[in-house]
This record gives sequence, C-alpha cells and structure tokens, in this order.
Amino acid sequence: MSKVLIIGAGGVGSVVTQKCASVPNVFSEIMLASRTVSKCEQIAQICREDWNTEIQTAALDADNVPETVALIKKFQPKLVINVALPYQDLPIMDACLETGVHYLDTANYEPIDEAKFEYSWQWAYQDRFKEKGIMALLGCGFDPGVTGVFTAYAAKHHFDEMHYLDIVDCNAGDHGKAFATNFNPEINIREITQEGKYWENGQWVTIPAMSIHKAIEYPNIGPRESYLLYHEELESLVKNFPTIKRARFWMTFGQEYLTHLRVLQNVGMTSIQPIVYEGKEIVPLQFLKAVLPEPAELGENYTGETSIGCQIKGIKDGEERTYYIYNNCPHQHAYKDVKAQSVSYTTGVPTMVGAMMMLTGQWMKAGVYNVEEFDPDPFLEQLSKHGLPWHELLYADLPHEY
Ligand code: NDP
Repeated sequence: MSKVLIIGAGGVGSVVTQKCASVPNVFSEIMLASRTVSKCEQIAQICREDWNTEIQTAALDADNVPETVALIKKFQPKLVINVALPYQDLPIMDACLETGVHYLDTANYEPIDEAKFEYSWQWAYQDRFKEKGIMALLGCGFDPGVTGVFTAYAAKHHFDEMHYLDIVDCNAGDHGKAFATNFNPEINIREITQEGKYWENGQWVTIPAMSIHKAIEYPNIGPRESYLLYHEELESLVKNFPTIKRARFWMTFGQEYLTHLRVLQNVGMTSIQPIVYEGKEIVPLQFLKAVLPEPAELGENYTGETSIGCQIKGIKDGEERTYYIYNNCPHQHAYKDVKAQSVSYTTGVPTMVGAMMMLTGQWMKAGVYNVEEFDPDPFLEQLSKHGLPWHELLYADLPHEY
C-alpha cells in the first residue's frame, strides 16, 4: 500500500492515473499534478465516476525543482511517476534525490533547445541515487519499456545469444483527422525529423531521416510501410545485451501523415529555433503543437489497432532460431477501458505495471536502471492481466536480411 505522485495530465497521464486507481491494494493514495490543473481535475472526475476512486490534484510546474520538492514533502509519496515531457526528467530526478523518493519515467531526457535524446544525462545520476538508497526506472512505457522487457524475456527463455534485434511498431489506426500525432506533437515531431540511426557491428550507423523503409507484415494487420528511426531503447539494449550485432527500430507512417509532415517541415513549422512574431518570441514547433489535436482527445472514434513487438535472431543450444514477441492493441479496447487511444494506453499500462513492480519490491534496488535489467516474468504476467496480452512466435519467418 503506497502513495504515488503522478506528474503530467496528458494522454499518458490519464491512462496511468486510471490504471493505478484500478489497483488500490498497491496504489493506496494517488495525487496527479500538472501544469494545467483543470486537466488533472477532469481525470479526477473520470476516476471518481468510472473507478470509484478519489484522487488528489495539484498545479505544478515541474521545471521548478523547489516547487516539486515542496509538493513531494507535502504529499509524501513513495514513488514519483513522471509522464510530463522529457524536458522535466532531470528537474524531477533532482527533486526525488532531495526528498529521497523513487522515480519512474517513460522517455529519456532531451534538452528543450536541441532535438537530441540519449541516456547519458540520466545514467549520470547512478551514484547519487545509489548513495541516497533510491531507485530510478527509466523508459517504462511500451517503446521504450515493454520492448526492453520483451528483449529480456527472449534472452531469458529463448536464446543463449541474441544477434539481431528489430523492434517493429505499427499503428494501423484511423482517428479521422487529416493530421494529428498520437503522443505529444512536439516530442513526436522532434523524434521523427532527426537523422535515423541503428547499431551494427559495434558502432552506430547514421542515415538521413526516413531514408530506409520497407513493407513489414504485422499480425492481424498485414504489410505496412515501415521506416527506420532512431529510438532510445536501442542505446540501453545494445549495452545490456552486448552479443547483439545489429539493432534497429522500425515505425509505420501513412502517406497522408508523411505529406503533411513534409509540408510543415518545408514551411518551417517544425523548427525549434525561436522566431520573433509581433514582438514576442515563439518556437514554431510549440505553436504547431498548440493548434494540433491533443493526443488525449483522439480516442473516441479511433478505429484499427496498434502492433508493437521484437523480432530477434540468435542462437539456442548451438542452433539458429528466430523469435517474434508482440502485442496488438485495438484502439477501441483502450477507449472502452480508460477512454484513451492505444498509443497512450500501450504507454500508460506498462508505466503502472513498472510502478507496481517497484512498490511491491519485485523490481527494487538503489540506482538508475532500464527495464531490461530486471526479471521480465512478473512484469509480463501483470501486463496481460491489466489489458495488454502478448504473443510469441518461435521460428517465425522474419522480414529481414541476416
Ligand atoms: P501530452 O502532451 O498529452 O501530456 C504531457 C503533459 O505534461 C501535459 O498535461 C502537460 O501540461 C504536462 N507538462 C508539460 N510540461 C510540464 C511542466 N513543466 N510541469 C508539469 N507538467 C507539465 O503528452 P503524452 O501524454 O502523449 O506524453 C507524455 C510522455 O509520455 C512524453 O514524455 C512522451 O514522450 C512519453 N511517451 C512515451 C511512450 C513510450 O512508449 N515510452 C509513448 C508515448 C509517449 P499542459 O497540459 O499544461 O500542457
């Protein structure tokens, strides 16, 4: 029975809060804090009506460490779940260090003025978290998150050595809007407009954005054009599983989405360089975010499903084998459960499960860790129970050249 402070009342924050409310024997008291308190109050009302649970709410600017410290001291949670934006990772980790409270997030830190994400900034907290006797669990959504747990599960149960890893992420859904992003537009567009990168033979190979793509077959969906992107879990997975010779990440995009994105890029709307407009400094990408639909609002009429998994080739008992482990999540399943779309849902459910692993002591040690460093079995057992069943195919026919 533990108190938990959730920071960030967006699409993912709504899912995490409701899923925590659905497990009161682990999350005995919940506080949701965010920049715009009215969004916390809307989620509190859903918790009251749909989950019969009262949660507390608070206004918080999590960039402000003393403000976050003061809120933590007042509420005294055992764990802070950060589902605000990656820019807040370091200030919230600082606040946790000052107050001696555990930390969990779903996306690694990136500086606001540079579209560059990597774990180095957060891994640098390792010694300080150890000395303080608290734990930070990094990247506990779906990707990063479940993809790391899937890889750890493959290593534990199916391989002596893993050699090739392809993470494949498909959203075969239709939200009926001409253009919208499924998670925070600013973070999403920063991610996909930067250069692509993959790991091969001990080094990173960089490619122009979206320049490598091919059709990949997804279960229950069929073939979808998938683009090679850099994704943060590649960094920790090749470090934690050093036998991996090549690790890549693929994500599907529809032609309509790509055309809109190209136009927005060409006219300068995706830039993160500030410009002066009518005497006020604005960042074009932040302005674009303000006019696009909120990820939390896409759920109601969303049809189709997502499919995310890991395709692995390696060696077991001296023989080559292939393996595919994945989850498919219909958008309407997510909407029925917590009034969300699948991208927020597939992030928020694993976040709650990761928090449960920490608070029940099944994943608990002082320091800063990625999800694949823990036993995958109890996590995957709970993941199925709480809405995200997963499937495995041994000796799968994988769409890659080895
Ligand atoms: P949203 O934009 O819907 O929500 C973000 C929320 O954070 C908003 O409510 C926003 O407040 C709040 N926020 C922003 N800045 C601050 C601040 N300084 N202090 C307090 N609150 C703040 O995004 P999502 O819910 O889609 O995404 C949330 C996080 O989840 C992101 O970091 C994203 O990268 C990550 N993610 C991870 C995935 C994974 O699989 N690992 C997949 C999808 C997302 P306001 O409402 O006032 O703007």
